[in-house]
Amino acid sequence: QHPIAKATVESVQAAVQAGATTHEPAPYQDLAAYRAAGGYTLLAECLTGVRDVESVLQTLEHSGLRGLGGAGFPAGRKWRIVRGAPGPRLMAVNIDEGEPGTFKDRTYLEQHPHLFLEGLLIAAWAVGIEACYIYLRDEYHGCRALLERELAALKAAPPLPEGHALPAIELRRGAGAYICGEESAMIESIEGKRGMPRLRPPYVAQVGLFGRPTLEHNFETLYWVPTLLQRGAAWFAGQGRHGRKGLRSFSVSGRVAKPGVHLAPAGITLQELVDEYCGGMLPGHTLYAYLPGGASGGILPASMADIPLDFDTLQPHGCFIGSAAVMVLSDQDRVTDAARNLMAFFEHESCGQCTPCRAGTAKVRELIAQPVWDRELIADLSQVMRDASICGLGQAAPNPVDCVIKYFPQELSA
Ligand code: SF4
Repeated sequence: QHPIAKATVESVQAAVQAGATTHEPAPYQDLAAYRAAGGYTLLAECLTGVRDVESVLQTLEHSGLRGLGGAGFPAGRKWRIVRGAPGPRLMAVNIDEGEPGTFKDRTYLEQHPHLFLEGLLIAAWAVGIEACYIYLRDEYHGCRALLERELAALKAAPPLPEGHALPAIELRRGAGAYICGEESAMIESIEGKRGMPRLRPPYVAQVGLFGRPTLEHNFETLYWVPTLLQRGAAWFAGQGRHGRKGLRSFSVSGRVAKPGVHLAPAGITLQELVDEYCGGMLPGHTLYAYLPGGASGGILPASMADIPLDFDTLQPHGCFIGSAAVMVLSDQDRVTDAARNLMAFFEHESCGQCTPCRAGTAKVRELIAQPVWDRELIADLSQVMRDASICGLGQAAPNPVDCVIKYFPQELSA
């Protein structure tokens, strides 16, 4: 077994069992320690022909690994699409991690940066990438210092078989804009422009960074690649619950006894997550509501805590899991307060490019600040925002408000 892969899964699980949270300093594995533990042997196997591209692509596809930044696009299929596009091909890695409540990427990066970098280099080899751009959230000062140090070490002594060279790898800083976590806005930002989403098609897999076919991935998707290749597709696919496949890194915050990053089976329900991984609710608090997917994934009541949490399972209820940022509210919270807070956030973070989002977020924020909500007008405005906004920010911004109207009428009548 690949010792790194084994150690990672078990150390995360052990840390979770020991009640670790992201507030605690994590041990950090540098290049020397990673190599001493057998790191970069999988990459060497790829480069020397022990593993071929087709077998790696098939492992990814059979594992069911999906984009863990929120969109959930199957990773193996994305690799095939970009590999089939004309070169030169580029890669853009999203570590902007701006979704409120999400902190899994930072947690893993602070512990095992080279597990991610080996995943990145394997992807670059499999897809035929010439240059990689890593886009890091500006507020992650510690991560930036760590990544700069480890990239310098990697470039000074590339852990590659003779005759092979690293692709160009550049680290770029964000500037604090939530919208730059949207893939095409991130690409604009890397190109040095104002971070505003592009109209699609064309998709970034065909026309992405600097007009070239681009493999765009969230940090965590690449982070799992070495472990998955070592342990095999069946291992990863067999981790799910309630008919779902794989593992999810839930960033849990709110009224639970043990907040933090909890690595749990895909498809686990909120009630199971709280009971089995979060040590239950805080003393004196009763589960009232939860946000299954950060700011834009909607709000559900406690009576719906038995829905499997995964891509595709929450859509029928007007919600989505996104990057698996779960926020737990108790009987001491009000969802109308949460919705007001979230809409103010969306208004502030709207890039302003299209009217339904720029004007819609401001108007909805005004409407829900009233003591009595004009539900008909809000519903009308929500629909326009969903139908006519250019990107996911404007399309999903009404989710929390719509959920309040649908699932929490008692707060509105009160
Ligand atoms: Fe910008 Fe909002 Fe339009 Fe997206 S939906 S392009 S964030 S104005």
